[in-house]
Amino acid sequence: MRISFSRGIKIATDNWKLGCDITNSQYFPLVFYSHAHSDHIPRKIPKTNVICSSITRTLIENFVSNYDDGEFYESYSIGDTIFSQVPSGHIIGSTALIMDSPENKVIYTGDVSIRNKGFLEPFKPEKCDKLIIESTFGKPKYTFPKYDEVIKETQEQIQKYVEEGIPVVLMGYALGKSQMLYHSFSHLSDTIILHDSNAKINSLLAKNGIDGSITAPTYQDAKDGGLLEKTSNWILFSPLRSGRNEFSTFLKKKFGVKLFAFSGWAISPNYKYQMDVDHAIPISDHADFAELIEICEKCNPREIYTVYGPKIQLAAELRKRGFKAIPLSKQTLLESFF
Ligand SMILES: [Zn+2]
Repeated sequence: MRISFSRGIKIATDNWKLGCDITNSQYFPLVFYSHAHSDHIPRKIPKTNVICSSITRTLIENFVSNYDDGEFYESYSIGDTIFSQVPSGHIIGSTALIMDSPENKVIYTGDVSIRNKGFLEPFKPEKCDKLIIESTFGKPKYTFPKYDEVIKETQEQIQKYVEEGIPVVLMGYALGKSQMLYHSFSHLSDTIILHDSNAKINSLLAKNGIDGSITAPTYQDAKDGGLLEKTSNWILFSPLRSGRNEFSTFLKKKFGVKLFAFSGWAISPNYKYQMDVDHAIPISDHADFAELIEICEKCNPREIYTVYGPKIQLAAELRKRGFKAIPLSKQTLLESFF
């Protein structure tokens, strides 16, 4: 089996060739898309065999403008290899891929999380021979505080503002982070408003019967209807923006809003100042360093390939812990590492 990385992950055996989250997928007879974030999908869906979840398929079909009619599968088999998906705990519809044959069980996590966030099924690590794992927060300093505690503290802070009649803006990616934010915070005010980018994803989910949507007016509608002036305890869900951004500056000046930025990078004390926000909350759709190590320990594979982010550092940390781990590159030669 040869595993390499170039615009996505390429896995080849004598019997099959697969591209995982690959952006030039037209050259592959079989591709897998772990989720619908733009850095994991191509601009054009190829006329080929595609494995992904039904939710990811719906999102991709709506995001990719020149959609071509690839054949979609939830699971697949070639010879004695069975390809199946399990939840990866990253965003709605995200999955990890399991490639199982009598010789080898291989898992590609995609973007992954094992934290229980109450609305998304976390990834459940299972024993395998080879593990391909993301490394976004793959350095020891990227260890997040307890999720439930962060949520509780943030709820209390938001509630305080709402009671004082101070509007708040909760900022995170419209796909993924925002559904997590709606789940944890949308009950804290009677007046919930969605930035137009959030509203677009929200109505796409609602239209397709996908869990995670809420009922709320768009910012434009709230503005036109005078809702922003009528009440002062509203919560606006918005994409992540700097406090220096034109829209943020306007909201601060006109309504005295408090800005909350939700990102794993808020683990760095500088992040709050870089973003120029009132609160920077370290919540991520990704596994932190401790989770990444836990996944590797529970999967206990013979070989680990790290991809995306600080993959060299994560692989080095894993080797310190006795794993055979290497960062995935264009030409990965496992032997040269040991
Ligand atoms: Zn992602």
